[in-house]
Amino acid sequence: MIKHYGVIVIGGGASGMMAAIAAAEHGASVLLIEKNKRLGEKLRITGGGRCNITNAELDVRVLLKNYGAAEKFLYSAFTTFGVKNTIDFFENCKLPVKVQDRKRAFPESEKAVDVVHVMQNKLHRLGVKILLNTAVTSINTANDKIEGVSCDGGVYKANSYVFATGGTSRPETGSTGDGFGWLNKLGHTTKTPTPTITPLALRDQWVSHLAGVTAKDAGITFYSNGAKAFKLRGDILFTHFGISGPLILNNAYKVADILQAGDVTALLDFFPDINPKLLDQQIISVLNANGTKLLKNTLTMLAPKGLTPALLLKLHTAINFETKNSEVTKPMREKLVQTLKAMPISIEKLMGFEKAVVADGGVELKEIDMRTMRSQKVSNLFITGDLLNINRPSGGYSLQLCWTTGYIAGTQAALKPQ
Ligand SMILES: Cc1cc2nc3c(=O)[nH]c(=O)nc-3n(C[C@H](O)[C@H](O)[C@H](O)COP(=O)(O)OP(=O)(O)OC[C@H]3O[C@@H](n4cnc5c(N)ncnc54)[C@H](O)[C@@H]3O)c2cc1C
Repeated sequence: MIKHYGVIVIGGGASGMMAAIAAAEHGASVLLIEKNKRLGEKLRITGGGRCNITNAELDVRVLLKNYGAAEKFLYSAFTTFGVKNTIDFFENCKLPVKVQDRKRAFPESEKAVDVVHVMQNKLHRLGVKILLNTAVTSINTANDKIEGVSCDGGVYKANSYVFATGGTSRPETGSTGDGFGWLNKLGHTTKTPTPTITPLALRDQWVSHLAGVTAKDAGITFYSNGAKAFKLRGDILFTHFGISGPLILNNAYKVADILQAGDVTALLDFFPDINPKLLDQQIISVLNANGTKLLKNTLTMLAPKGLTPALLLKLHTAINFETKNSEVTKPMREKLVQTLKAMPISIEKLMGFEKAVVADGGVELKEIDMRTMRSQKVSNLFITGDLLNINRPSGGYSLQLCWTTGYIAGTQAALKPQ
């Protein structure tokens, strides 16, 4: 016999778990279907394993400025369940939250897995039935409504359905874009996802020697076909394939734009506050104070932490690093200054979905009643999280979107069906 539920939530990520909790709290019998063998696979890797749970900007109008064109669509939703509700939710579940720079909020334990455990415990306490290792394979409709979902193990039915299957970034976490296909079939318009918040791959092999090094407060100027395009300033993290960190991730979309026009290069400035002449003077003082030492053993005093291997590699033909500091020549110093002030790199591409933090794309917001997260095409369908076409930077804004849309979808789905 087919068991009939009040609400079926498909996808046990951040927004799906929140939707299931809200639906159960509002009295519905809830079935949560997740294709992975455990819940919250992507949530576990958020914030480098620390989970930037939200952005603690309590002024909703200021906060919403970060959601681009979605700003006006989200106002009602965020006044129903916003940042304060999120922090209260987790603190009431005995998960204290702390706020760090750029208002980024994390669990005090700095463990993303604790966030998953809090959600799991709450789901269990509320009696939500959880089906793991179960992929929904098709959506069955009748009379413009969803009347059931088919999985390998059978068919499940409910009054209302929440699609919380996520986007397409990091597909190994289960976000393989299944929801986009279903939504298209149901008559929705979905924007094809592209990786948006994603690192940049470089052609320069030497960067792999800097993997893990962060250039603090550096400058980077991008060039499109040799012409200056735009400049950024902040921390730049080197990885084994290129550059990353919030500054790069949040501006990758600008690089995507100029990549379409052709060749993209950039110059890294490790001393953006001083001009080449002043940097040369600083280098002279260090060399003079360490005259008997070899240049190769003095580089750590001349360049930002961690940069030495790259300098040795890049400059070994131009500079003899075995030279005694007292014998370093002007052309050698000039080469060093030039490299530290304008180290050239060549951008190959944006990393793809496999490295992206967020892929944009999803359902056009005008096709959703954003006060309820109800589909305007199918009256017993609610849509959450990364399935929505909303651009936002890193900094806790994505997960806040999941908590907000999940809570509202779950609450509304639990109400009497329309
Ligand atoms: C590396 C990384 C770090 C991030 N860090 C942060 C951060 O610190 N702060 C922040 O705000 N945001 C962060 N994000 C973004 C954030 O993780 C996502 O926006 C959020 O997890 C999306 O949640 P979701 O519920 O929409 O979907 P997902 O978390 O993608 O969950 C969807 C779930 O649906 C399941 N599913 C898919 N198809 C089916 C099917 N057919 N049947 C059954 N189940 C299915 C999947 O297995 C998955 O578990 C990060 C993202 C990445 C990749």
